[in-house]
Amino acid sequence: MYDVIIIGGGINGVGIARDAVGRGLNTCLIEKGDIASETSSWSTKLIHGGIRYLENYDFRLVRESLIERDVIKRIAPHITKPVNFVLPHVPSLRPSWIIKIGLFLYDRLGGKSTFEKSKFISLKDYFKENPIKENFKSGYVYSDLIVDDSRLVLLNAEDAINRGAKFYTNTNITKTVRGEDNWSIFLDNGEVLKSKAVVNATGPFTISVLNNIFGIKSKKKLRLVQGSHLVVKKIYDGDQAYILQLNDRRIIFMIPFQKKYTLIGTTDHEVENFENPKITYEEKTYLINSVNSFIKKEITDNDIIWTYSGVRPLIENNSKTSSKVSRDYTFEIDDRDGAPIITVFGGKLTTYRKLSEQVLKKLSKYILVSNKTWTSNEVLPGASDTIVNNEDMPKKIFERLIETYGAKVSKLKEYYNEFNAGGDLIFEDFYEFEVKYLIKEEMARTSEDILFRRTKLGINFPKEAKDKLEIILKRHL
Ligand SMILES: Cc1cc2nc3c(=O)[nH]c(=O)nc-3n(C[C@H](O)[C@H](O)[C@H](O)COP(=O)(O)OP(=O)(O)OC[C@H]3O[C@@H](n4cnc5c(N)ncnc54)[C@H](O)[C@@H]3O)c2cc1C
Repeated sequence: MYDVIIIGGGINGVGIARDAVGRGLNTCLIEKGDIASETSSWSTKLIHGGIRYLENYDFRLVRESLIERDVIKRIAPHITKPVNFVLPHVPSLRPSWIIKIGLFLYDRLGGKSTFEKSKFISLKDYFKENPIKENFKSGYVYSDLIVDDSRLVLLNAEDAINRGAKFYTNTNITKTVRGEDNWSIFLDNGEVLKSKAVVNATGPFTISVLNNIFGIKSKKKLRLVQGSHLVVKKIYDGDQAYILQLNDRRIIFMIPFQKKYTLIGTTDHEVENFENPKITYEEKTYLINSVNSFIKKEITDNDIIWTYSGVRPLIENNSKTSSKVSRDYTFEIDDRDGAPIITVFGGKLTTYRKLSEQVLKKLSKYILVSNKTWTSNEVLPGASDTIVNNEDMPKKIFERLIETYGAKVSKLKEYYNEFNAGGDLIFEDFYEFEVKYLIKEEMARTSEDILFRRTKLGINFPKEAKDKLEIILKRHL
C-alpha cells in the first residue's frame, strides 16, 4: 500500500515525489513516457522572478519565484548559470519610470539575494559585442538563472528514487477503482497498485486524465497555450541574454545556447490539441521578424538549426490575451466519494518546489506527513563540490561530461573504464560508455531520451550517428 501515487513525471510530479519520499511517505510515480517528455523539457529554461508578471500585478508569484531563484541556484549549481539579461529601452512602449519601478521591485521583492541588482547601461559600451541596432542606445541589465530544464526534472526523479520512491516510466494506467480509503491503479504491465491518495500532475493532460482515467469532472478549466522556440546559429559573442519588448506588448528572449547557438523565444499560441506540439509557420515568422527588428545582422529561415514547442497548462481566467493569463498554480481536491485525489493546475519550472510543499500540506489532511520542509536544504545529485580528478578520459570528453553531469562524472568514469577507450565512437566526443551509463543509471530507453533530454547532443546530429546510436542502444538495453 503506497501512501501516495503521483501521475505525471514532469517537474511538478517529480518535485512532489521527491518531497513526499523525503518526508517518509511510501511514494510511487507513474509516467506514460520518459521523465520530462512533455512541457517540462520545452521551456525557455529560465528560473526567474518573471519581470513581465509585475505588469499583471502578480506580486505573490514574482516574490515566490525570486526566492526560488536563489534556492534552485543553491541546490542545483551544476545545471544552472546566472546570466545577465539586457533590456533595450523602447520609450514608445514603456517609459523609463515604469521600467525603473519594475526593476526596483524585481531587485527587492525576493528579499536578500545573491543575484546582482539591476542597472542602467549604454548598450554600445557594456559588452564585448553589441548585436543591437544603433537606434537603441541605452537599456537596463539585470540577472536571472538559466537551467537545463529536462535535467532538473531528471535529477529530482533520481533523488526521489535514491531515497526509496518507486518510479514507473513508459507505463500507462488502464483502469482505476476508488475505494473508501484507497485507490487501486491498474497498469498496462499487469500490476495493480494500491494507494491511500493520488496526485494528478499531468500538465496539459490534467483535465483529460481526470475525466478519462478517474471519471471525475473538474470545475476548473485549463487554457492550453503553445510556446515555440528557434535555435539559430550564434547571433553574437558574449554571455549576456536579451529581453526584447515587442509592439504587441509581449516580450521575447534571445539567449546564448550550447556555445554554438542562440535560443529565441517564445510565442503564445492557443491550441486545443496538446499532443506532439509543433511550431507553426506564423510562429516562426513572428520570432524571426521580432528579433530582426532589434538586431544588426538580420537572420533568415536558413539560420534555423532546430525548433521546439511545448504547451503551457495555464489556469483559465478568461482573459483576452494569452500572455496575460497568470503563470501561478492552484489545486483541486476531490474526496467526496472515497480516497482523495489532488489535482495540480498551472505552475512553472521555477516554482515546482513550493508547489510540491503545498501538495504535501494538502496530503497531511489524509495521511500522516511530517510538516518539516527539507527540499531547499538538500542538493540534487551531482551538485557536490568535490573536485573529480581526471586521469582516464581525454580532456574534451571530460569537460563536456562535467558540464552536463557535475560530480556524477565519477560514476561515468567507472563506465568509461569498463570499455577500451570508452567503447565505440558515436559522434565527436560521444562514446558507447555514456549510452550505457544513461540506460543503467538515468532510465534512458530511446535515442530521443538520450539526445534531447539527458543531453542536448541531438541538435545537428547526423543521420549516420543516429543509426550507430540505435545499434548501441540495443546492445545495452
Ligand atoms: C514555451 C514554454 C516556455 C516556458 N518557459 C519557462 C521558463 O523559462 N521558466 C519556467 O519556470 N517555466 C517555464 N515554462 C512553464 C513550465 O515549463 C511548465 O509550467 C512546467 O514544465 C509544467 O510541468 P508539469 O509537470 O506540470 O507538466 P509536464 O512537464 O507536461 O508533465 C506532465 C507529465 O504527465 C505525463 N502524463 C500525462 N498523462 C499521463 C497519464 N495518463 N499517465 C501517466 N503520465 C501522464 C506526461 O507524459 C508528462 O510527462 C514554459 C512553458 C512553455 C510551454
